[in-house]
Amino acid sequence: MSGGFPAAGRSSSENRNTDFVFLCIFVANDSDMSATLDAVIVGAGPNGLAAGIVLAQAGKRVRIYEANDEIGGGARSGALTLKGFTHDICSAVHPLAVGSPFFRSLPLARCGLEFIYPPAALAHPFDDGTAVLLERSVETTSQQLGSDAAAYRRLIGPVVRSWSDISEDILGPLKLPRHPIALARFGMRAIRSAEASARSHFKEQKTRAFFAGLAAHSSVSLDHFGTAAFGLVLGATGHCFGWPIPRGGAQALSNALAVYFAELGGEIVTGKRIESMSDVPPARATLFDVTPRQLLTMAGDSIPSGFKRKLQRFKYGPGVFKMDWALSGPVPWQASACKQAATVHLGGSFEEILESERDAWAGRTNARPFIIACQPSLFDSSRAPAGRHTFWAYCHVPNGSTTDMTTRIEDQIERFAPGFRKLVLEKRVLSPALLEKHNANLVGGDINGGAATLAQMFTRPTLRTYSTPLPGVYICSSSTPPGGGVHGMCGYHAARVALRKSFE
Ligand SMILES: Cc1cc2nc3c(=O)[nH]c(=O)nc-3n(C[C@H](O)[C@H](O)[C@H](O)COP(=O)(O)OP(=O)(O)OC[C@H]3O[C@@H](n4cnc5c(N)ncnc54)[C@H](O)[C@@H]3O)c2cc1C
Repeated sequence: MSGGFPAAGRSSSENRNTDFVFLCIFVANDSDMSATLDAVIVGAGPNGLAAGIVLAQAGKRVRIYEANDEIGGGARSGALTLKGFTHDICSAVHPLAVGSPFFRSLPLARCGLEFIYPPAALAHPFDDGTAVLLERSVETTSQQLGSDAAAYRRLIGPVVRSWSDISEDILGPLKLPRHPIALARFGMRAIRSAEASARSHFKEQKTRAFFAGLAAHSSVSLDHFGTAAFGLVLGATGHCFGWPIPRGGAQALSNALAVYFAELGGEIVTGKRIESMSDVPPARATLFDVTPRQLLTMAGDSIPSGFKRKLQRFKYGPGVFKMDWALSGPVPWQASACKQAATVHLGGSFEEILESERDAWAGRTNARPFIIACQPSLFDSSRAPAGRHTFWAYCHVPNGSTTDMTTRIEDQIERFAPGFRKLVLEKRVLSPALLEKHNANLVGGDINGGAATLAQMFTRPTLRTYSTPLPGVYICSSSTPPGGGVHGMCGYHAARVALRKSFE
């Protein structure tokens, strides 16, 4: 564990009764809580909670205001279809949470979080009934890649071996690296486009498709510089940690963060939307787990015009069109290897995935979109009644798209799992507009808090990253480095900046 992170507390086999703890810490209205606060956080997503924990660990009195009735933002679970089925409303698979240097330092297991590790991190099926699995072993994975076996080991092996040295630098703002040589080696591979990287390293179509599927999590067209980084990072987390799912759903991760925050004395007020800066009680530091667009609305005229223009120029990425199903049985994959992984990438060939991501980026919807799917109930029986299953999937669409992708998504699933539609008991669609209604941070359905382009990767949303020109006001959402995903590193870094600037 690197020096910047406090060690996790001793883990205990006895998990806390999280429901009980929540009754104690959540306060429906805050009128009676007049004691002086050191810090206020707006938004109880993974980054807001992470920021709260860092500040509370430093002995500060912290209160988080959350607009929704439940905490968790993009890491929440609930009933979306039928009674007895628990669905992940946003995030489902958590390689970045288990790979997060900050989350790894927290006693989340003691606070009720249990990760389930499917045998493989990911399955990528093809039309010929085969599938490539991302397995823990680089060697075993490479053996599925035909003549690309050695090339795969050469590309991903060094990232896997140096992960503990480079992860803190990759998952944060630009700064002097702790391990400059390892980071430079990673950077030379990562700065390329995923398309160029796949074409130059691999000869087999299946390997190229597998790598493109990993990189497509960027939501950026795969011919853009820097998209190879996503393929490398997600591949490496699969080999280093696996791609786990929290038992009970993503909410369990948020609940564990909140339990630990409460242990440190933190307070959370749910059901309280902050409409403007004047709604925020006085404190030395206020951290916003929101994207630039909402900050602009909340700050109004108090924000200096130069900074306002920079925030207005911040670019959002494509949206997602998401679906959830309650199924009468497991997904009937043609490639039976797909039963080994919670995450399944449905896009078929390299060229198809490139085109799908290029279209979403360029403002077009694709007839055969690349789908990221998850089948949590195969590995977690708490998600659905016995014998029944939950299924979760999304594809990228243009930001704010109003096109109904239901048929196209189900066609793609049916392509790799004939008979899928016959199993559907109930389904629920979350269009970009519905996602944004559920969480204001999902602007136009963008799940990464802004486009993850090279220009916006390490200096987002502006060169100031977590700071603003307003004294004591900080941004801690995924609109800051290192960007989208449930890892809490944006909140961690923002809170450290706030401690330095507002409390020293
Ligand atoms: C459909 C979908 C699938 C995803 N899948 C994955 C996945 O599998 N793995 C993964 O790692 N990541 C995934 N993500 C991305 C991940 O959820 C986000 O990157 C992450 O949640 C960002 O955390 P955050 O704290 O910055 O913001 P959020 O999680 O968005 O939290 C922000 C919080 O602030 C609250 N808020 C906003 N405005 C206000 C206000 N004015 N007043 C008070 N509260 C406010 C919101 O209600 C919300 O609770 C997915 C996202 C979506 C939408």
